[in-house]
Amino acid sequence: MIIFENTREFAKNLDSQDPLAKYKEEFNFPKVDGEKAIYFTGNSLGLQPKSAKTYIDEVMNDWADLAVEGHFFADKPWWDYHERFSEPLGKVVGALPSEVTVMNTLTVNLHMMMVSFYQPTEKRFKIICEEKAFPSDQYLLQTQVNFHGFNPAEAIVEVKRREGEYNLRNEDIIAKINEVGDELALVLIGGINYYTGQVLDMKAITEAGHKVGAFVGWDLAHAAGNIKLELHNWGVDFAAWCSYKYMNAGPGSVSGIFVHEKHHSNKELPRFGGWYGHNKERRFLMEPNYEPNAGALGWQSSCTGVLAMAPYLASVKMFEEVGMDALFEKRDKITAYLEFIIEEIAKEVGGNFELITPKNLNERGSQLSVLLHGEGKELFHYLMKEGVIVDWREPAVIRLAPVPLYSSYEEMYEFGQILKRGIQTK
Ligand SMILES: *Cc1c(COP(=O)(O)O)cnc(C)c1O
Repeated sequence: MIIFENTREFAKNLDSQDPLAKYKEEFNFPKVDGEKAIYFTGNSLGLQPKSAKTYIDEVMNDWADLAVEGHFFADKPWWDYHERFSEPLGKVVGALPSEVTVMNTLTVNLHMMMVSFYQPTEKRFKIICEEKAFPSDQYLLQTQVNFHGFNPAEAIVEVKRREGEYNLRNEDIIAKINEVGDELALVLIGGINYYTGQVLDMKAITEAGHKVGAFVGWDLAHAAGNIKLELHNWGVDFAAWCSYKYMNAGPGSVSGIFVHEKHHSNKELPRFGGWYGHNKERRFLMEPNYEPNAGALGWQSSCTGVLAMAPYLASVKMFEEVGMDALFEKRDKITAYLEFIIEEIAKEVGGNFELITPKNLNERGSQLSVLLHGEGKELFHYLMKEGVIVDWREPAVIRLAPVPLYSSYEEMYEFGQILKRGIQTK
């Protein structure tokens, strides 16, 4: 355990010992008044890896030079471009290569997963989710339930936070699973809450769901590339995530999916097929009968935008090179340093700052959500004007996500100084 200090010198020293420090140079930073910004919103849109352009240019050049022949003769042929993700992305989410692929975008993929894993019957039709889930997930669940002819008010069971608490309790989710019991068809929750940054006990919740005979899926929008996942070992049925948050693949880039091996040869599971999900050896034979690929590839439907996959591939290669353990080690240290800085500034300015993200390292990733009692939105405008890109939620919550690949300790220190001035000059 290191004793932190709130000085530039101390922060610089941490940077000089940081084995990931060199990766900062691999990213393009936005500028505010001509100066590199301090970027805290990698949980919303990750920064652009410089290599993204190289990967996109490669596709552009192959398209220019080869046109349709690029499907088979491009440097990285397009017909199976998506298969390059299985191995490296499997390491990011703790899955076998055959359990992972990329396609579509996140909400669409959750719909595709629900086609297979939400098969309500008169008796078993309920879905457990979290209270105040990300809106897209709420709409997803409502419309799926409607599509099957059930009533969302009856079918969707939200687990609520206890009075006066910011975070969900795992035990409350598990109790609700047991309570709904054999009426429960599906558990579908965000592995990390987007607002508080809380990480749920995915292993225990998955086990509890299975015990009552339900399927369990996870929305990993804020988890992929941020926290340790062991989807295979936990026995999770399915998961999906977007690639533009911690995975730095660019706005609207393609989503990843996970389907557990145990479901791969289950022909009973309904699927919405298409030619890219069809037996890949026979894809171009244009046969009449649908025969899905083995593994997650069997949940593909359409061809996927190669230009959208290219920056994701650039990013995934970087994750593979760095290794997840090194990433997590820096994540915990830099997040703890930021937490320390915020506490120090609170003391200096006599502020009442409340961390609504759990303090326990097993229950959080990069993101810290801080409620600044007594501060107003003018503080947010001040931070933005001073080159700190943060996310502000009413009443006065700032979400800060230091990203181990591109954030420095000195930036945490610098942020503290700007925060202090912002509060003092009010
Ligand atoms: C970011 C996010 C989404 C975004 O969905 P898209 O389909 O990629 O637009 C969905 N769910 C959660 C929990 C998110 O955090």
